[in-house]
Parts: sequence; structure tokens; C-alpha cells
Amino acid sequence: MTPAKTRRAAVEGWFTLDEAEPALIGSRCSDCGTFAFPKETSFCRNPVCSGTEFVETELSRHGTVWSYTNACYQPPKPYVAADPYIPFSLAAVELAAEQMGVMGQVAGGVTVDDLAVGTEVELVLETLYEDDDHEYVVWKWRPSGSPPDGRVRPGPARPAVARRGLDGGGRDD
Ligand SMILES: [Zn+2]
Repeated sequence: MTPAKTRRAAVEGWFTLDEAEPALIGSRCSDCGTFAFPKETSFCRNPVCSGTEFVETELSRHGTVWSYTNACYQPPKPYVAADPYIPFSLAAVELAAEQMGVMGQVAGGVTVDDLAVGTEVELVLETLYEDDDHEYVVWKWRPSGSPPDGRVRPGPARPAVARRGLDGGGRDD
């Protein structure tokens, strides 16, 4: 047993260190509402917006896989890779609320075989590397275990009466 080390962000200011519910820290344009990650400080990403004021904001912790790959070679910044480099999987995850994609490594033990376009994932923190006193963590995407056609989340089970509308009752479009 080794004593617990202090956890630190491998990249300062890009995500919270909340153990239970970590979140990426992005920005939102005060003019047009466009989100950015990492947070924007000078120019809005929206090409038709000239906004220069941004509000720091925590991004959604859940998203869906839009694209994924094996990173057999070390990707360029801003990806933060272990040194020496260890191949990992990489996913581009779509955040519905922010209408943006966020790249990230996929959690340890998860391979591309476990992923599909549309897989629901959640943000977790994992140790990237460590020294004698600290563990340096980075954000990763981990499948949240929900079936692709369900909205199952940890927590109290829903009463069966809530299962309506699945066979189209009430709508005829
Ligand atoms: Zn803007």
C-alpha cells in the first residue's frame, strides 16, 4: 500500500478536480453564446462574431461519441500524453448543450472495440503520470454504460408508469 498522493491537474485550469463530478472548464462568448474549449480569451470562434468578452463556464459532463480512433502515435498539443508515450484511444465527443465537440483520451481499459458513434460517455479524471508526491490527472471519456436506445442513469429506478410513449402512443407523425 502506498500513501495517497496529492492529485493535481496535468494542465492547470482546463478542468475541475472534483473527484465525483469533474468538469471541463470552457468559455462562453458574451455576444453570441458560442462555447469554446480550452477557454477562449481573445477572439470568438464564431467567424461572424466580433465578441471579445468571455465567461468561464463548466461544460457538460456527458456527451456522445462523434468519432474515435486509436492514437498509435503521439498526437500534437493540446493533447497531453504520458511520457514515455503509451498508445491510447481518442474520442471526439459531442456535447449537446454546447453544440461543440471535445477531443479527449478514452479511459484506461476501454478500446475502440468498446466504442461506437453515438456511445454515451462521461467525463472522468485519470492519472496521466506521477512523481513522488503527486498524481497528475487528465480528463478522459468513459462509456457511461447506458444502452444506446435508453436513458438509464445511476440512481433510483423509474416507476414503470413512466414508460410511455415508446411505441408512439400520443403522436402520429
Ligand atoms: Zn461570439
